[in-house]
Amino acid sequence: MYDWLIVGAGFAGSVLAERLASERGDRVLLIDRRAHIGGNAYDRYDDAGLLVHRYGPHIFHTNSDMVFNYLSQFTAWRPYEHRVLADVDGQLVPIPINLDTVNRLYGLDLGQDDLEGWFADRAEKIPEIRTSEDVVVSKVGRELYEKFFRGYTKKQWGLDPSELDKTVTARVPTRTDRDDRYFTDTFQAMPKHGYTRMFEAMLSNPSIHLMLQTEYRAIRDVIPHRRTVFTGPIDEFFDYRFGRLPYRSLRFKHVTVDKEQHQPVAVVNYPQTEDYTRVTEYKYLTGQIHPRTSMSYEYPAADGDPYYPIPRPENGALFKQYERLALSTPDIWFVGRLATYRYYNMDQVVGQALSTFRRISEEVPKAGEP
Ligand code: FAD
Ligand code: UDP
Repeated sequence: MYDWLIVGAGFAGSVLAERLASERGDRVLLIDRRAHIGGNAYDRYDDAGLLVHRYGPHIFHTNSDMVFNYLSQFTAWRPYEHRVLADVDGQLVPIPINLDTVNRLYGLDLGQDDLEGWFADRAEKIPEIRTSEDVVVSKVGRELYEKFFRGYTKKQWGLDPSELDKTVTARVPTRTDRDDRYFTDTFQAMPKHGYTRMFEAMLSNPSIHLMLQTEYRAIRDVIPHRRTVFTGPIDEFFDYRFGRLPYRSLRFKHVTVDKEQHQPVAVVNYPQTEDYTRVTEYKYLTGQIHPRTSMSYEYPAADGDPYYPIPRPENGALFKQYERLALSTPDIWFVGRLATYRYYNMDQVVGQALSTFRRISEEVPKAGEP
């Protein structure tokens, strides 16, 4: 009899497996339908020997000491600050939009104070910021919105920014200084030997039994267990009872070329041209020295593996129906980006899993205790 069946070996499932096994001595069966651990953060060495992320670029950043300290038990880090350029009007310019972006694009020589006024002259007054269009247009005006956000967002989500919650484009700030980092968090680093090595260390406890290429459905009534943590799509868990929750998918094209470097930064975004949204050159993330270089191209898709919950009011309302059902289903905890239908970064999922562990510790007696 296992104390826990944990479905999904990504961040949500692996953190809970580690905590439950290490802190409580619980016996855990961790399963994943995929052939590997790590969920979407999985990385591996490709045929050329370059470390790449199978499901697109994963850059770790957080403001949480707790999350960073927790993960630091399982990996050393390589400091890394992420930079992105956007291919706009035939030039590669910094995104998030900053002072250099505007000066280069418009052939100007503005200073930081000038740029505030320049944005203010173009920003539209919007009484209530609701959508992903509102967020950008109210800060930088319609022209930069069209150049940087509208096309990229339509490609990435299959929706106009006016149909998406404000939280989506609000992930990308606007700056009036020359800071060209994608993130400004206190901790920005990559696991020194990759995510998969870090997950292996998390899951090394002998009380964790791992079964890959295993469907929840195939074993839930066969392998005895007391309780469940589910980190897959919540609508799938409940057999789509209220209808399907939309998730956005991607196809990845992985390419290796016979030169040391392909592009000037880790990621180039394509808001105006191409069918793909962005190209990632992994060496920048990993620091690997190698005569060849590997990239991934991301092609958004409506069907396929669920990667992104789609933040908009009607989807939120549908999720609430599933959430109510989840709350009234005993002995099952729903955790992670798919099961709680939240557009969470890795650190947020780790934080959510750690707080779920605290709740479990309060509510569930340890094995052998009354
Ligand atoms: P997942 O990693 O999706 O893990 C869920 C696992 O459950 C999967 O492995 C799945 O196979 C398994 N599963 C589901 N259903 C079943 C079932 N019925 N039976 C068995 N197994 C099942 N975050 C950042 O912080 N920085 C980034 O730079 C970043 N970049 C990203 C880029 C892309 C393209 C994507 C898609 C995401 C990115 N993220 C990034 C977000 C990050 O991937 C997630 O926050 C994190 O991986 C979510 O972990 P999770 O455990 O909730 O889900
Ligand atoms: N976005 C955009 N243009 C860009 C970068 C981002 O329109 O050059 C929008 C787009 O809607 C995207 C969202 O901002 O989905 C969030 O961007 P982020 O880079 O955080 O996306 P992720 O890494 O999660 O795919």
